[in-house]
Amino acid sequence: MRLRNITGARDIIGGSEFVIHEPEKQKGNWAAVFGNNNPVHIEVGMGKGRFIMDMAKAHPDINYVGIEKYSSVLLRAVQKMEQEPFPNVRFVRMEAEAIAEVFGFEEAGRIYLNFSDPWPKDRHAKRRLMSKEFLARYDRILERDGSLEFKTDNKDLFMFALAELEPAGWRAEAVSYDLHHDREMMRGNIMTEYEERFSSMGNVIYKYVAQRQKK
Ligand code: SAM
Repeated sequence: MRLRNITGARDIIGGSEFVIHEPEKQKGNWAAVFGNNNPVHIEVGMGKGRFIMDMAKAHPDINYVGIEKYSSVLLRAVQKMEQEPFPNVRFVRMEAEAIAEVFGFEEAGRIYLNFSDPWPKDRHAKRRLMSKEFLARYDRILERDGSLEFKTDNKDLFMFALAELEPAGWRAEAVSYDLHHDREMMRGNIMTEYEERFSSMGNVIYKYVAQRQKK
């Protein structure tokens, strides 16, 4: 994602009611943040927040937390929320590596990874959000029957992501190698900003839905 330094982004985010400012303090306590016991679904690397806000509109009985590491990008999501606030959405500016410090044991019902950065060099594989290192973090915070959903237009990254699942104790419940021509998996699909951009360029979109292996 192209980044520009947006003056004051940190100040605006710092003063926003839509952003959780000391997220570690909410660990195990997200029901209180939202004031209800609805399931909590997380998007890791949400960018400007289009997907999570469209999901929130479509599913008012689910609470959504969007995680984004860059203030300049999160600012766009905050501005969108100011235009159209959703009571079931909160944002956190953080590095996803610390996700298990912010959510308690099995506190999330679902995790979305959309068009995550590929980190193409082998030595950076553990930074990929669907690597075995990240799967171990999700394993701590995701409900036993919860699912992890990943969409991308990057075939190499998708193949890497699929190969990471089994050795880490996960299995792909559903896989599509051409999501936009897959009637079953397209049901209820909400496009992300990158999904719209890449599919309009003719790129194929890949998706998996994964869960823990049943013991
Ligand atoms: N999910 C959005 C979409 O599909 O339109 C944005 C995709 S964009 C390519 C990836 C986003 O993930 C960027 O905004 C980036 O800053 C964020 N990101 C990447 N690695 C991250 C990490 N380790 N922690 C938090 N955010 C991350």
